[in-house]
Amino acid sequence: MPKSSSIKNICLYHQDLDSLNDNEGGLVEALKELNDLKIAFDQHAIVSIADADGLIICCNDLFCQMTQYSREELLGQTHHILNSGYHSDAFFQELWKDISSGKVWRGEICNRAKNGELYWVEATIVPFLGNDGKPVKYIAIRTDITQRRLAESRIYQLAWHDSLTGLLNREFLFKELAKTIDDSPGSHEYGALILLDIDHFKDINDLMGHDLGDKLLRQVGQRLQSLAHGNEVVSRFGGDEFMILVTELGSDSQSALDQAVNLAEQIRLALGATFYINGLQIHCTCSIGLVVFDDANNNKTELVKHADMALYRAKEQGRNRVSVFDKQLQNQVLNRSILRQDLQQALRNKEFYVHYQVVVDKTLSPRGFEALVRWQHPTRGTLGPADFICLAEENGLIIPLGQWVLETACKQLVEWSKDSSTASLLLSVNVSAMQFADSRFVTSVRRILQRTGVNPSLLRLELTESVFLSDVEKNILKMNEIKELGVQVALDDFGTGYSSLQYLKRLPLDLLKLDSSFVRGLPENSEDVAITTTIIALAHSLGLRVVAEGVETEAQFNHLVELGCDLFQGYWLGRPLSVQNAVVFNPTSL
Ligand code: C2E
Ligand code: MG
Ligand code: MG
Repeated sequence: MPKSSSIKNICLYHQDLDSLNDNEGGLVEALKELNDLKIAFDQHAIVSIADADGLIICCNDLFCQMTQYSREELLGQTHHILNSGYHSDAFFQELWKDISSGKVWRGEICNRAKNGELYWVEATIVPFLGNDGKPVKYIAIRTDITQRRLAESRIYQLAWHDSLTGLLNREFLFKELAKTIDDSPGSHEYGALILLDIDHFKDINDLMGHDLGDKLLRQVGQRLQSLAHGNEVVSRFGGDEFMILVTELGSDSQSALDQAVNLAEQIRLALGATFYINGLQIHCTCSIGLVVFDDANNNKTELVKHADMALYRAKEQGRNRVSVFDKQLQNQVLNRSILRQDLQQALRNKEFYVHYQVVVDKTLSPRGFEALVRWQHPTRGTLGPADFICLAEENGLIIPLGQWVLETACKQLVEWSKDSSTASLLLSVNVSAMQFADSRFVTSVRRILQRTGVNPSLLRLELTESVFLSDVEKNILKMNEIKELGVQVALDDFGTGYSSLQYLKRLPLDLLKLDSSFVRGLPENSEDVAITTTIIALAHSLGLRVVAEGVETEAQFNHLVELGCDLFQGYWLGRPLSVQNAVVFNPTSL
């Protein structure tokens, strides 16, 4: 450590060198050289010298410029005059502990200038010791790093924050989640992930404008932030999804679960309260998925997936609720991941086949069939579309699978055309939203029609109401292209989704399929009667025919006939069967 005696009595700042005698020539030379160095140094560094008590006894001009205090104002003060409040007391206690014990301290300090502005310096504080080994003064040399810190914080802001809400972003949450899991092996400390999604946010956005949608998301962010007490990371996950990471929930699983559910319920209630935006009162609800974890569940991607599954279940159960990832969902995950792998080979191994369900008119005469795909799984037996269509959509297999079903159906139509008793039967094929959204969809239909040589007017494609969800104009164009191929188009499961009357009249449809959920309540349930009556009347006014789905009883059939329904499909009329069993079907024998 430098001994202060070596430069004893020399304070280079404000020393008048000319006052030294000539006979001290050698010393003058050395001092002049030192003074030149000081001048150069002063151009670069911010320097101050404090005595043993920390009082400023010297400083250079840059120090005055930086602090905006005059030298007179600074001398005799401690550096506390520059305290910005940014650092904790402990920070300065550590600093003092180091330098007063003779250690050089290096670090970055945020100070406040006289006009209140904050600035950052990189500082080196060197203590100079007296003969007794105790510091007699401290020289602090600093460089201004404000610009660098600003750039860093801007980069930090950009890298880890969501620009719309100012909340932390998905990447930050993942980083924190990884840290939480990795930092606590063996700690058995519980944490939770809460994933929430605003119910029908798309409708709000579409109906009320994106500006209002953005403001709503900002206010949601603020409400979430206000519920955080310190051990939560609140992030916007993207779109209208927000994720909250909760840590330090203790080592008792039940208590951790209770705390997490409690917070999730608070969030649900907070977001259910009215929002005031642009002078309007906006009401919305949210669905929440929650997963509790400890250091044993250490796969962060899986955890997020589990929160997502719980969220999905909350939506399925009617939205505006909290759903917790549990054993039942865990088994579903296992099953799905096994099925997902098996699905890869299923098409190649020719494990899919098609069943045909009859569609009859009011005289019970078969008018056509609906093709419904099945999977003959090597170990699990027959699986229905509910077990695998979603998975096929996830991995993109739905495109080749959909093409295969379509081609199989077209070949079947060609077969039927060879016999006069079946030549006029129509065949409906389901098209999933993802399949329809594929840019090559129309081309692939055209190719299949050409390849099989089928009469296109006997083919009907069933689309779901998802065509209303986005890009409606583009979807209308696509539907028109399909119509130009001579193929009929039906809207499946009508009444369950997002049908907008405004668009409905513009869609080039031939048929509406009334969802089975309305048929189920007939003829007793007056609401179902009212809805069914209205849908049939609406369809007829638009020049469309109606197929009632899920007709399970004679009473339902008779009532639907009375209401003017055109076509009928359901277990009472015929279950989905192999082609051989389906075509020998004779409804009049019922
Ligand atoms: P969907 O197009 O609405 O088909 C009608 C579903 O209702 C079929 O279920 C059928 O078996 C069932 N169903 C028919 N009559 C009755 C009844 O009286 N009562 C009850 N409870 N149900 C009845 P499935 O075969 O399980 O198909 C379910 C859904 O999977 C279909 O609904 C369709 O959306 C989809 N799907 C079926 N095949 C395909 C396909 O090849 N491609 C695509 N993308 N989706 C398909
Ligand atoms: Mg269908
Ligand atoms: Mg349907």
